[in-house]
Amino acid sequence: MLNHSARAIRDGVASGQFSAVEVCRAFLARIEATNPSLNAFTLIAAERAIATAEAVDRRRAAGDPLGSLAGVPVAIKDNLCVKGMRTTAASRILENYVPPYDATVVERLEAAGAVIVGKTNCDEFAMGSSNENSAFGPVSNPWALDRTPGGSSGGSAAAVAACCTPLALGSDTGGSIRQPAAFCGVVGLKPTYGRVSRYGLLAFASSLDQIGPMTRSAADAALALSVFAGPDRADATSAREAVPDFAKAMTGTVAGLRIGVPRTFVNDGVNEHVRQVWDRALETLRGAGATLVDVELPHAKYATPVYYLVASAEASSNLARYDGVRYGYRTADANIGVKEMYCRTRDEGFGAEVKRRIMLGTYVLSAGYYDAFYLKAQQVRTLLRRDYDSAFERVDVVAMPTSPMPAFRLGEKTADPLQMYLGDIFTVSANLAGLPAISIPCGFVEQAGNPARLPVGLQLTGRMFDEATLLRAADTYERITDWHTQSPQL
Ligand code: GLN
Repeated sequence: MLNHSARAIRDGVASGQFSAVEVCRAFLARIEATNPSLNAFTLIAAERAIATAEAVDRRRAAGDPLGSLAGVPVAIKDNLCVKGMRTTAASRILENYVPPYDATVVERLEAAGAVIVGKTNCDEFAMGSSNENSAFGPVSNPWALDRTPGGSSGGSAAAVAACCTPLALGSDTGGSIRQPAAFCGVVGLKPTYGRVSRYGLLAFASSLDQIGPMTRSAADAALALSVFAGPDRADATSAREAVPDFAKAMTGTVAGLRIGVPRTFVNDGVNEHVRQVWDRALETLRGAGATLVDVELPHAKYATPVYYLVASAEASSNLARYDGVRYGYRTADANIGVKEMYCRTRDEGFGAEVKRRIMLGTYVLSAGYYDAFYLKAQQVRTLLRRDYDSAFERVDVVAMPTSPMPAFRLGEKTADPLQMYLGDIFTVSANLAGLPAISIPCGFVEQAGNPARLPVGLQLTGRMFDEATLLRAADTYERITDWHTQSPQL
């Protein structure tokens, strides 16, 4: 049961091969068994999940139509609101926050029959690349418990890799879906900016944030995206673009697909073992009929500083709302005057990394520095976008490794935030340019000792609103390789 795809579960529930409640109990048992070692979940909603599954089974018994995710267990990153379910963004400042409404993605998943089993751990307000910035403590990588699952959607990635659910939601501002997917050996898709409504996502950087699926196959990512993508009146930034049935777009062929390879950029700073695995993946796609074309992204080397300026500026503004007045944590000492109350609340409620981003963001937006930092970053962002525009005149997708290295050890980079940031070099540009990008398992870095192997992700970036081509290429690759079917021994 635990190895079933979302689609197989849906079909099994629809045909009566098993009940939604049976499915739900099996996955809940897996979550309970693995969470003490993984810490992937901040909340396990067992009773609510069983009740939802029972409702699916009643619909089937009554002959009512079932949704395309009927009975599929889903885990939700803890920065997405689920009505009545504690939602913390892994922050102390929201430790007791219970949203009075559902995120649009959550509403759409449940309308399609999905069964929400719990909330997943993440970096505080999605700020991080290792899941170590969480008020709930770090998540362990299922392939090596002393290593990071990546971040910020580390809990979602670990949950899917450990077969706790076939589908989890993540959010991606600069790589938070793709990098943990790569570290944990699962599929992660960041859709085009605007493709998915962010209503009910606790905002980090509003010009970059997107919500997307994390799964063990491209087919399941396609199925999930078709359910929750599309315009939403509650989010003015959601695009009106029609949503294709992504499942149908996957034809199993990449014949004629032109893959852009920014070799100079990638070779500069990638781990040699990762590069070899990535090269082999490109050769596999070539063997399947794709053509490899050298492309240049001259401004990509500036993507990390540009990202950390823009994202921190927006974060400093978005997080101003956590003031201890309207909701969330408030300092215990109430008789200190309003200004002191704000200061103490925020000092006690936010973790170190979030404070670092707020200070950095406030600094780059301040009067004397705005032109030198924020404005300059926005200008380079436009140049980066143009690099992709010209690449896409010659190719259909651009291929890079998702991360320059495999999963690193917990604690290895916590003392040096800059080292942590530099690891985001291959993921942040898709967000800055608004483009869709997917990470798929493409092999392992083999090493002597324990663990013997760590997963590597292949990242494909596509044209605006062309998730279909990414999913088609990913699905084709999965049909000729078996990396995505391998699971860690827990
Ligand atoms: N690692 C990046 C950061 O720390 C990206 C995070 C994200 O995508 N939410 O900001």
